[in-house]
Amino acid sequence: MAVPLFDIKPQNNALAADLQAAFARVLASGQFILGPEVQGFERQCAEYLGVRHALGISSGTDAILLALMALEIGPGDEVICPSFTFFATAGCVARTGAKPVFCDVRADTFNLDVADAARRITPRTKAIMPVHLYGQAADMAALNELTHKHGVKVIEDACQAVGGTQGGRHVGSLSDFGAFSFFPTKNLGAFGDAGLLTTNDDALAERATLLRNHGAHPKYFHKFVGGNFRLDAVQAALLAVKLPLLDGFAQRRASNATRYTEHFSKLPGVGTKLILPTAQPGNGHTWNQYTLRLPGSGRREALREWLASRQIGTEIYYPVPLHAQACFASVGQTDADLPVSARLAGEVLSIPIFPELTRAQQDEVIAAVSEFVAAGK
Ligand SMILES: *Cc1c(COP(=O)(O)O)cnc(C)c1O
Repeated sequence: MAVPLFDIKPQNNALAADLQAAFARVLASGQFILGPEVQGFERQCAEYLGVRHALGISSGTDAILLALMALEIGPGDEVICPSFTFFATAGCVARTGAKPVFCDVRADTFNLDVADAARRITPRTKAIMPVHLYGQAADMAALNELTHKHGVKVIEDACQAVGGTQGGRHVGSLSDFGAFSFFPTKNLGAFGDAGLLTTNDDALAERATLLRNHGAHPKYFHKFVGGNFRLDAVQAALLAVKLPLLDGFAQRRASNATRYTEHFSKLPGVGTKLILPTAQPGNGHTWNQYTLRLPGSGRREALREWLASRQIGTEIYYPVPLHAQACFASVGQTDADLPVSARLAGEVLSIPIFPELTRAQQDEVIAAVSEFVAAGK
């Protein structure tokens, strides 16, 4: 039986009637960009996340870029972000003209190491961007304490973690800005590109709202240079169908994670040859990914091939830490400077965890991983 890493079709097919009704409403309205559908979805998101402002945005990447622009970050500024993350986190920093300064991550959570970030603060540091990688919040209490002391802003890259919590509060509500992605493989998956920007600050919200639409206020009068970061009405209408189901999807991901961990914990060499992901106390983990670590040269690739030969999908998020990307060579940071990021990039492997994964499919993954371990690989 083939087990894909991810399959969006069962989730969307089950909702086909509601999605088609939402599409028909937008079709009949003739309003396709922003407008009442987007406003309705924004209100729904703000209430769900417990934030004052939620802005529908064209993508998660654009939400990050817009947050940086609203904070007036640009040439001469530095923004600290983890090296072990998706490219967009640092790509957006570079696009503003600011310098991304990479910090290391913790091997147990895959998330920003606050002590390491602290060492990299300079008078030019304007913001720190933690990433809630794989669906689990970075240590926001420690980070906020650090940034308050230094007068540095915080933007949460919550693109992988919609619905996640820390201390009972939603990610994206724990700092100056939260950026979310609704790319189809994220826990709340759109039907194309879509994103969200959240803040509790009225002035920042107003500025971001103007910048989302070329900085125009009123129309055709531009106080600042913004961009087109607007959300389509059709994405908002379709996402509004799925948002009320998000916590249920996350519960199914969490029970898949629990079941993997129960089985894998019994394997020989667990903790050394096969390291399992964990949720920290106080965190509501959304399990966008269940990511194994396989220390030892070539062992991650060996498991990936073993699973592929059994038609089990996997992915490496991410094979190259950002400090080692060709485009960031001028930043001048090395593996020796960011040892955990460099190590994790060679060890991580994500396996199927999506909510609609069947028990039989999961059994297949569990059996295949167990056989790999039993074969002494
Ligand atoms: C998906 C993702 C983004 C970008 O989101 P898009 O909607 O694809 O632009 C940014 N950061 C992280 C960590 C992501 O996983």
